[in-house]
Amino acid sequence: MMTSAVVRGPGRGLEVVSSRMPTPAPGQVRVEVVASGMCGADLGTVASSSSAYGFPLTPGHEIAGVVADLGEQVVGWRTGDRVAIGWFGGSCGHCTACRRGDLVHCPDRLVTGVSYPGGWAESIIVPADALARISDQLTFAQAAPFGCAGVTTFNALRNATLRPGSRVAVFGLGGLGHLATQFATRMGHETVVIARGNDRERWAVELGAHTYVDSTRCPPGVALGEMGGADLIIATASSTEATSALVDGLAIGGQLTLLGVDAGAIQVPVARLVTRGQKITGHLTGTPSDIEDAMAFAVTNGVEVIEEIYALEDAAQALERLASGTARFRIVLEAAAAPRDREAFDDGGAR
Ligand SMILES: [Zn+2]
Ligand SMILES: [Zn+2]
Repeated sequence: MMTSAVVRGPGRGLEVVSSRMPTPAPGQVRVEVVASGMCGADLGTVASSSSAYGFPLTPGHEIAGVVADLGEQVVGWRTGDRVAIGWFGGSCGHCTACRRGDLVHCPDRLVTGVSYPGGWAESIIVPADALARISDQLTFAQAAPFGCAGVTTFNALRNATLRPGSRVAVFGLGGLGHLATQFATRMGHETVVIARGNDRERWAVELGAHTYVDSTRCPPGVALGEMGGADLIIATASSTEATSALVDGLAIGGQLTLLGVDAGAIQVPVARLVTRGQKITGHLTGTPSDIEDAMAFAVTNGVEVIEEIYALEDAAQALERLASGTARFRIVLEAAAAPRDREAFDDGGAR
């Protein structure tokens, strides 16, 4: 048997239950989960009225753990391997996107915790192609958030057309924003953090930001414009109204990248984009190999996830904390029965 945090039906909220331990089918592995992050998107998953695999539904797409059971036909992975699984939960392997290496945009891609039960549990079954290897230097709790918050912000930065010294603005200082800020400064960019109120200024500076803009005191687009404009704005907060106003803060040739998703639409003056060569892009996540790159960069450059840790049994309480929007900065659930970091290190991960 295993413990998991589930939603039993639409609108039923989150509860911790005991269920049967699943076994992997061919091509799949069972991972014993040690740590599993809570992402803003999970609030939507918990509240959703439907589920691709029915109810009970188990959210969770920022997972770190140990390979415990291999299905048939799985090659390249061994029991005891320390692995992470993110939002990308597998792809078809044969469509045009997959053959181009763009796994994330496979039309048949699977999303962890959405297409199949996710990581707020003691074990998870995933396709082997969703696995990333965890850097030896990272604990499970540090590694888990790289599956979504880490890889998403890392890719948004490294895939933008920037040079050292470019000005990057991070809009929103939460789970994604606090990592985007650290990545941007470590990549050599002048970094501006924009958030509501002045209580986050201290944090922004501590994370390495060079300038802080309190969006309740000055429209962020105007503030950025006065600095000369941002070459990249990463919008991690999903407020479309605020996002529209950010376009005013783009430099010539600047790019606004949207990471947060809501149901809204943004309104932008076309002439501005055309005459200044600016662009607006959406950006979702990365592949398992991108997750490994993000972890490696974090280890080399001292990027750390600042997190609040809750026991898996207290998942409902942790979810309330997530919904409050005041967590510093990522909430991570830890499974009590899972192997600890010390054990995993001591025997070289061979367990
Ligand atoms: Zn996420
Ligand atoms: Zn595909």
